[in-house]
Amino acid sequence: MTNRTPLIAGNWKMFKTCPEAVETAGQLVKLVAATTDIDVMIAPPFTALAPVADVVRGSCVSLGAQNLFWEAQGAFTGEISPAMLVSAGCKYVIIGHSERRQYFNETDETVNKKIRAAINNDLTPVMCVGESEKERESKDTFSVLDKQVKKGLEGFSSDDLKSLVIAYEPIWAIGTGKTATSGQAQEVHQFLRSVLEKSFGNMLAKSVRILYGGSVKPNNIAELMAMPDIDGALVGGASLDPETFSKIVRFKE
Ligand code: PEP
Repeated sequence: MTNRTPLIAGNWKMFKTCPEAVETAGQLVKLVAATTDIDVMIAPPFTALAPVADVVRGSCVSLGAQNLFWEAQGAFTGEISPAMLVSAGCKYVIIGHSERRQYFNETDETVNKKIRAAINNDLTPVMCVGESEKERESKDTFSVLDKQVKKGLEGFSSDDLKSLVIAYEPIWAIGTGKTATSGQAQEVHQFLRSVLEKSFGNMLAKSVRILYGGSVKPNNIAELMAMPDIDGALVGGASLDPETFSKIVRFKE
C-alpha cells in the first residue's frame, strides 16, 4: 500500500486540431466527472492548450504539455517556454519522451535542463525513460535506465524533486500493441525506486509517482495498477478516444 495518488495521463502526440481537441476534452470531462481518488491529465498539442484549458477548468482533468524549452524567452524560433505553458493553463509537462529522444535529438542532458526549467516554473515534470528492444534483449535494461535517471536528475536535491513523476516507457511497447507484462513493469519500477533511493533517499523514492507507458488499454490497466510500484499510466493511442481513455481512468469500476 502506498499513499501516492495514482495519475492517469494521456499523451495526444501530434493528433487533433483545436476543435477536435475541445470536443474530446469536453466528452472526457463528462465521462470522468465522478473520479475523485485519481489524478487525470491530458497533454494536447501546443495549439490546443489554451482552448482545452477553458474546457477542463474546474474539472478533475488537468492540463499538460508534451515538451518545453529551458530558456525563459529569446530568439529560439519554434520553441515554447515554461511560462508560456503556465499561462496557457498547464500544470504538467512531459519531458524526454522516447519520440523526442529518437526524432529530435533529445539527450539526458537536455532532459536535465528541461526538468530544471519545469521545476523552476512550478510545472510538474513527467520524465520519460525506457529501453529499446535491442537493449532489453542484450540485458542492458537496468544499466540504460540507471543512466537515464542519474543523468536526467543530476544536480537536483530531493527537495527539488518533490513533484517529479517518472514514466517508464519501454520503447518496444510504445504504439506497438506489445505491453510489458505487469511483472516486467513492476520489476523495472522497483528498480527505478531503488535508483531514486540511492541518490535522493528513502522519503523521495517512496513519494515519486512512477507511471507505466506502452500500449496501455482498458483491458490491461487493472493488472498493471495492481502492482505495488506502478502508480498510474502514460497513455498514447488509447487516450485519443474519450470513451476508451475514461475506461482506463475508471479501471476500478
Ligand atoms: C506514449 O506515447 O507515451 C505511449 C505510451 O503510447 P501508446 O500508449 O500508444 O503505446
